[in-house]
Amino acid sequence: MGSGNAILDAIEAKKFGGALSDGLIRDVVEGYTTGKVPDYQMASLLMAIFIHGMSYGETLALTRAMAESGRTYSFPECVDKHSTGGVGDKVSLTALPIVAACGAPVAKLSGRGLGATGGTIDKLESIPGFSCNLSEEQFRNQVEEVGLAIIEAGDLAPADKEIYALRDTTGTIDSLPLIGSSIVSKKAATGAGHLLYDVKRGSGAFMKTTEEARTLAELLVRLSEDLGIDASALITDMHNPLGSAVGNALEVRESVLLLKNEPVPDDLARKVNHVATRLLELKGISDPEHAVENALSSGTAYEKFMAFVSAQGGDADALEDLSVSTRVTEVKSPRAGYVARFGASAIGRAALALGAGRKKKGARIDHGAGVEVLVKPGDPLEKDQPIARHYGEREAEPARRLVLEALEISEEPVDRPPAILDSL
Ligand code: URA
Repeated sequence: MGSGNAILDAIEAKKFGGALSDGLIRDVVEGYTTGKVPDYQMASLLMAIFIHGMSYGETLALTRAMAESGRTYSFPECVDKHSTGGVGDKVSLTALPIVAACGAPVAKLSGRGLGATGGTIDKLESIPGFSCNLSEEQFRNQVEEVGLAIIEAGDLAPADKEIYALRDTTGTIDSLPLIGSSIVSKKAATGAGHLLYDVKRGSGAFMKTTEEARTLAELLVRLSEDLGIDASALITDMHNPLGSAVGNALEVRESVLLLKNEPVPDDLARKVNHVATRLLELKGISDPEHAVENALSSGTAYEKFMAFVSAQGGDADALEDLSVSTRVTEVKSPRAGYVARFGASAIGRAALALGAGRKKKGARIDHGAGVEVLVKPGDPLEKDQPIARHYGEREAEPARRLVLEALEISEEPVDRPPAILDSL
């Protein structure tokens, strides 16, 4: 028999590994979001969940309760993608204009970067005039007229925002049901009909092994499908940064090159192609590979990006030569060999040290700062060959040490890692 107090009943049940009913989960989520349940009780429940886990049914109920804790959108015709965070990941900036140019509309809610992981909103704000502050009506109109609109996630799934902040300070982040419900609740509240998850594994990612990433991917797809979203997932490598640019304006510049069909590092080109093709497949567009190739070679993908930037107040002409920091220093290889790995995590921290990211929520960032990696795994190396460029006004020495720490050199030739490790 319960005490009639939802949070106490939930703590009592979960501390012995018992199951929580859908109603109890809903009451707890509502109580916490409205301030009736204090942090200390919610923290106690989260720790019990961390220790004993949740069944799939409980995880689904938690996801639904968090998704419905605030306003919700509905864009059943739209495609969306979600990446579990990465370094140099400019796939949203590139794959989304491509699919929009192929007739798959995109209504996206994105976030800002925190720590060594970049955020799409910060990257876009390096374009002069660009704003993600659209009213709901402007957002809907732009999706209709341009086929691509991106705004800040803001007040979606407020329960997740509160619970995530509490998890962050109570050692309960790395729990599969809590991660799965957190991610999918925001996607369900966004309401796109077709969704591709890009689950990263590696030093720069949340999941360190392919197996862990696959387990999370399976959970994300299952939860999404059960909430009416047509979903699939890729498991991709994040041991190394994607492409060469890490930092906001630098990443937009590299994205512009890709969209203009100019040369970019192979790992980036292959990944973007794959993601765009899978999104078009989800949307049911025929011959998606050809459609992607055509959008790039005909220039329509870049035109779509420019139309999107202009619609959100950005100066599309500035894209041709977006300004970055003019203070540039080079880092050189300490010896000869082959690049085995250029660790994403340390490169991300180097970009952060140069001012490209924020250590605390709300801190100012330098849009023109960052790192350009000049070598990729598998490349042969000479002693003193430039391996990276630093951009930024801050002292470059801490970033230089991190970049040197990131570089693993092998005596033997090294195979290039695959861009896509698995998919479901
Ligand atoms: N990203 C999220 O949105 N939530 C988590 O819990 C982890 C990663």
